[in-house]
Amino acid sequence: MINRQMPLPLGISVVAAKLLYGGVALAAGGGATTAAVPADKHFHPKGKPPSEFTKAIIRKLREELPFKDTKDFEEAKKGFIAAPPYTKIKADAGHVAWDIGRYQFLLSNKDFDTIHPSLQRQAVLNMGYGLFKVKDGIYQVRGYDLANITFIQGKKGWIVFDPLTAAETARAALAFVNEKLGKRPVTAVVYSHSHADHFGGVRGVVDEKDIRAGKVQIIAPVGFMDYAVSENVYAGNAMNRRMFFQYGVLLPASPFGHVDQSIGKNTAAGNLGLIAPTRIISKSIEKLTVDGVEMIFQNTPGTEAPAEMNTYFPKLKALWMAENVTGTVHNIYTLRGALVRDPLKWSKEINRSLYLFGDKSEVMFASHSWPRWGKERIQQVLRCQRDIYANLNNQVLNLANKGVTVNEIHNVYQPPKVLQDQWCARSYHGSVEHNSRAVINRYLGYWDANPTTLIPLSPKDSAPLYVEMMGGADKIIARGKELYGSGRYKLAMEILNKLVFAEPDNQAAKDLLADVLEQIGYQQESPSVRNSFLAGAYELRSGIPQGASPKSLGPDMLKAMSTELFLDFMAIRLDSNKAQGKEFKINIVLPDIKEKFVLELSNATLTNIKGYQVADANLTITIKRSDLELMMGAQKSFDQLVAEGKAKLKGDAKLVEQLAQMLDVFTPTFEMLPGTTAKKTTLPEVPNKLAQPPLELRGE
Ligand SMILES: [Zn+2]
Repeated sequence: MINRQMPLPLGISVVAAKLLYGGVALAAGGGATTAAVPADKHFHPKGKPPSEFTKAIIRKLREELPFKDTKDFEEAKKGFIAAPPYTKIKADAGHVAWDIGRYQFLLSNKDFDTIHPSLQRQAVLNMGYGLFKVKDGIYQVRGYDLANITFIQGKKGWIVFDPLTAAETARAALAFVNEKLGKRPVTAVVYSHSHADHFGGVRGVVDEKDIRAGKVQIIAPVGFMDYAVSENVYAGNAMNRRMFFQYGVLLPASPFGHVDQSIGKNTAAGNLGLIAPTRIISKSIEKLTVDGVEMIFQNTPGTEAPAEMNTYFPKLKALWMAENVTGTVHNIYTLRGALVRDPLKWSKEINRSLYLFGDKSEVMFASHSWPRWGKERIQQVLRCQRDIYANLNNQVLNLANKGVTVNEIHNVYQPPKVLQDQWCARSYHGSVEHNSRAVINRYLGYWDANPTTLIPLSPKDSAPLYVEMMGGADKIIARGKELYGSGRYKLAMEILNKLVFAEPDNQAAKDLLADVLEQIGYQQESPSVRNSFLAGAYELRSGIPQGASPKSLGPDMLKAMSTELFLDFMAIRLDSNKAQGKEFKINIVLPDIKEKFVLELSNATLTNIKGYQVADANLTITIKRSDLELMMGAQKSFDQLVAEGKAKLKGDAKLVEQLAQMLDVFTPTFEMLPGTTAKKTTLPEVPNKLAQPPLELRGE
């Protein structure tokens, strides 16, 4: 068992981060690991240790990185009150929703040559576990989920900022706070932004009855409900599949596998819910007193999330930076797939916080990572983050204006040395490479303006010619081995990728490419990038893993999904080929919420318009929105609702079945690398083809 009296790494007396890498005992009272895989053994039978080249790169980084700056370690352990006597939190469904003990190997006082030293440092910092005092009246539980949960002491009870991803972890955190600090009711919840790791656990801290009775307020930034669901629906299945790469969903916690997720260890796997806010903060700056606590909200739309807000507490002299400033440079482009964010807007909102609150704040805290204390330190970190986002935007565009393209920028752009030497400007959630490409993509798009890349062949169509011209598989493998053996991994990747695309069944080629990707993965600072390379290696060696069954959106999320979004997603599911030659107009009436739509199939394309009805409809469906949700969640089929009289049809009833036959059911099992298809999948059958519930997505 791990040491129960202290947060995992932070109760140690070592304050010099450099010492963490220099042979000093780390976890006082540490013992047997709870990780399933022994830390010194690769979890995969084909897995390789770090090469001499990888080791040399990692050793050099240990010398070059600013390890003498140990401020983050002091701040991460400051205010520690207690850790709970458990490392696992059970889900209501019976499985383990959370287990920080999986990462115990990080506290084993070892330099891992399979982990970038900067990432290992971040991974250790993220092992903070338990209850912490930020300031009198402000407490955080850390290490219970991907995010922190924060408790502000009001006159009557707790104001909860960001109730984690899952009801189970949020409930456990509240119970622990009440146990240690005295039981108090929750009087309000604040959602800082529209990502699920900041609202999903709300049902673990409040009862909906109390919200309806007006006893508990839920406060959120403008646009919250629009984005809480919509960001992840249209391309949701592709995002879920890509999560396997960015979040390394199937990689065991191990020095050879998953070590961290930059803004925390990982996401909890429990019940994700959503209760709609009762109070929306809509002004750019808005004051509000909640349970006797004065707050000044700063809306920051279009930064880390499309709906997000910082909060300043004037009496407490405390600044909450939501997820706008945490212990990482964040994603401008999220590898699981998302619209590219705006680093200039982000930088400007940090600047506004600095100028509004930077000279007043005694502590700055956030929804991930650890707080910063003292005006000087707060201003240093705000400036550091303001400048790294601004530099990323400006310097990349400077280079783009001189002709550097989206396909080169990651090999050209470097943050200035003065920023590289500060931990607060290091990229973990993002990476310098994929964020710099994102800036060009945002302004100029994906095309590098070379006509040969404008309408290129698909990789599988061009690869056979390359393989033929290079003299066939044996020659490529021989050359690939030579490049691998001399540490020239990106060149090896280039030619082996062609071979794997030309010969997806060539396991020797896939294994060698996996070895190459693995070494590149070990060398990455950003866990998003590391996981992508290591997950790619995993799938090349073993195929797409079986048994992956992400949950569908729960009832709360379906309730929050607008009817229009549901119909838009149905239109995305339409297989246009199956719709050839078919045409119809359906009037849809939702009497309980006074909505009406026309759903029209024409030109093999499905569209909808809200607020209209047509006189020449082939069919009119009248259904309560609450009953429609049963179908959206696949709890009931449309036929059942018709049989029960809950869906009333007037006109050509057969159209519903015809439409269902044209709709695809998406599963996150498609190949991302050639020749990796799973033999069988264990995904649950969707009982009702008309309504595929979108899959739950938890990443950021
Ligand atoms: Zn978050």
